[in-house]
Amino acid sequence: MKTIFEKNNSTGGISLTDGEIKTDFIDEVFLRKKSCGLPDISELEVMRHYKELSDRNFCIEKGFYPLGSCTMKYNPKVGEFLASLEGFANLHPLQPDDDAQGALELMYRLTEALKKITGMDAVSLQPAAGAHGELTGMMIIKKYFETKGETRTKVIVPDSAHGTNPASAALCGFEIISVKSNSKGQVDIDDLKKLIAPDVAAIMMTNPNTLGIFEEKVLEISDLMHKNGSLLYYDGANFNAIMGYTNPKLMGFDVVHLNLHKTFATPHGGGGPGAGPVGVVEELKEFLPVPVIDFDGQKYFKKFDLKHSIGQVRDFSGSFGVLVKAYAYILMMGRNLKEASENAVLNANYLKEKLKKDFKLPYDVLCKHEFVLSAEDLKHNTGVSALNIAKALMDENTHPPTVYFPLIVHEAMMIEPTESETKERLDEFVDVMIKICNEAKSDSGNLAGAPHKTPVKRVDETLAARHPDLCFKNN
Ligand SMILES: *Cc1c(COP(=O)(O)O)cnc(C)c1O
Repeated sequence: MKTIFEKNNSTGGISLTDGEIKTDFIDEVFLRKKSCGLPDISELEVMRHYKELSDRNFCIEKGFYPLGSCTMKYNPKVGEFLASLEGFANLHPLQPDDDAQGALELMYRLTEALKKITGMDAVSLQPAAGAHGELTGMMIIKKYFETKGETRTKVIVPDSAHGTNPASAALCGFEIISVKSNSKGQVDIDDLKKLIAPDVAAIMMTNPNTLGIFEEKVLEISDLMHKNGSLLYYDGANFNAIMGYTNPKLMGFDVVHLNLHKTFATPHGGGGPGAGPVGVVEELKEFLPVPVIDFDGQKYFKKFDLKHSIGQVRDFSGSFGVLVKAYAYILMMGRNLKEASENAVLNANYLKEKLKKDFKLPYDVLCKHEFVLSAEDLKHNTGVSALNIAKALMDENTHPPTVYFPLIVHEAMMIEPTESETKERLDEFVDVMIKICNEAKSDSGNLAGAPHKTPVKRVDETLAARHPDLCFKNN
């Protein structure tokens, strides 16, 4: 077999004869003996391939994305520009503090901003996501009681909670007790009172909760828990509903996580990281993961000597690029963060009122940034389920809402429009939902096969989870 590169001693350079590249520069031993199998195609064809793949994807720049609980707001592109500035992007994570003052200052200022927004007394930027923040928070709570010499083995979690709440507490070795929701979709205080006992370490709550309903009794709950010597953990995934109006400190919480990729407009994953900073009250400050970012009046520095620190929960300083984007968003918004929450709540209530005539609304109350519909009646009458509706929406260039969560609503469809959308987009979504509802009543068979227009049609969901096939086959 002929080699692709052939040594050419006569010319002392590269020459091309009969399609063979000959070179003088590279020693024989380094030359490839057979083809490496690269596709022999032009840059243009490569670009078309990747553009084609990206067209098959869905993103908020392409259409409405009301994925409840995930706060799929628009992520301003200036954040990408700032995070890719040379001084940030090329900084080595082991650079001494003296050489990284700008990055440390940014982290310090972000910490200060998040302290103001949450009302907490200290914040760690380390955790990589909301669930990681929960784990960090539960580790802090565990160590706090260990340090006090108290044996507390149980954590109370509402039955409406996100699955990561009980999972995080269980990972820390806590036993989970579930507290019921009442007919208003809020924590049932009477049930809670029965569960409170000396061995309860904490309650984990989301407020507004996963139904998009504000827990009106939150102060009473925090009183009950604190009187019992227990702590309160705030799952900040729904923070987009309350910015500037209230905060977890005012509601009586002791530990909180924020999802920067939800509320603070940084991209959700897509292969990249998120960030789930954790804030705590004064009493828990010394338990935070190290390093925390501090300022001595002259220099910014990473502080490692916290008396009771749970240790490091992430390499280096967390997802730094995400922190840059979130800080940029906070600076851009300033006091308008409050307006963002206001519009998020307004948009959700607008959709709720428009859709409740055609879909069952299990909790017909003023909602916060999201609300939950049920396809239970529709399924009973037509056989069309929440899953069918979700798939049909994909044919309408719309991302489905979150379905089958929270678990306390049958055939749940959790809708969160965010503040990014115009009234025209919201109206389009209402029209599409009503169209699908009417189709369910007249031609439910068509919906059972949806989506019809997407590159990938109906998948076997269990098969996909158990045997993920990550090799894309062109069809
Ligand atoms: C998204 C979410 C979480 C988990 O956050 P991640 O950043 O996805 O790990 C926890 N609780 C609620 C209510 C959420 O919506």
